Amino acid sequence: MGEKVAILGLGTMGGGMASNLLKAGFSLAVYNRTAAKAQTLVSAGASLASTPAEAAKGASVVISMLADDAASHNVWLGKDGALEAVDQGAIMVESSTVSPTWIAELAGLAAQHGAELLDAPVTGSRMQAEAGQLSFLVGGSETALKAVMPVLQAMSKEIVHLGPVGSGAKIKLINNFLCGVQIASLAEGLAWIERSGLDREKALSILKAGAPGSPLLGAISARMVSQNYAVNFLLKLMAKDLLYAQTEAAHCNVDLTTAEVARSLFESAVAKGFGEADMSSVIEPLRSR
Ligand code: NAP
Repeated sequence: MGEKVAILGLGTMGGGMASNLLKAGFSLAVYNRTAAKAQTLVSAGASLASTPAEAAKGASVVISMLADDAASHNVWLGKDGALEAVDQGAIMVESSTVSPTWIAELAGLAAQHGAELLDAPVTGSRMQAEAGQLSFLVGGSETALKAVMPVLQAMSKEIVHLGPVGSGAKIKLINNFLCGVQIASLAEGLAWIERSGLDREKALSILKAGAPGSPLLGAISARMVSQNYAVNFLLKLMAKDLLYAQTEAAHCNVDLTTAEVARSLFESAVAKGFGEADMSSVIEPLRSR
């Protein structure tokens, strides 16, 4: 058995990441608030911890992949939280998309416990997590990154060191700000195409091949057309990312006016019951207007 690694959070992303850590031969402890989601991993050799603390104890690397700041706070600092149990010298890796403010607080608490925090959010979605093809955007010390490199490599195609702790969280929010605004504008553009009398396929193929074309536009427009909203990225998480992006940009005196408009589209879709569907379903309230 290899070194002990813990992963906290087995949602859309964490489940795939955990299975690649097992395949790479790490001795893996898993924790998830809803324990039933760990079943397949346990059958494949992971040990199921009943609390975050139990998962973290004795692990050299503790990774979290949770919904948002509140979930991360809960799992690291709540009752039987992971932070109290991390070993001296352990590296904590926060891979959730969370706010840089929370990363700074968690990094300080990690240091007080004799551990070190890396923020390492990811790009790539459910399929890349399952295939071990994520990109990690890392903030923190070079020494800590070097120590966790084999663990991150087991889950990724690329690891980019951006700078001090918090750097990964910042670029991730900028990345998702651009994605969220593009998806919102695509939803409005496609709703318009559908009411305009244009041939939808022809119109979309022009947009995909032209200047607005992007991998995101291609993938999301296909889901909007097929109305297949099986979850790759939960719609409610994009609303969260846009809010965190706005708050963070405001710290730099930048007003994300386009994020405000995009977020209102995602939030009205949440209010209409699409929060637990894929983010591409943001078009549905526009279609039914
Ligand atoms: P997800 O499927 O919703 O999973 C969220 C995880 O957080 C689950 O383990 C969930 O536990 C846990 N959780 C939520 N609230 C909690 C709370 N209050 N206390 C304890 N645990 C809580 O989300 P995901 O798609 O895996 O995304 C995880 C993170 O990666 C998010 O920050 C997301 O923005 C980011 N991300 C996602 C994608 C993507 O394409 N999906 C891509 C890049 C980054 P339960 O299972 O018990 O609900």
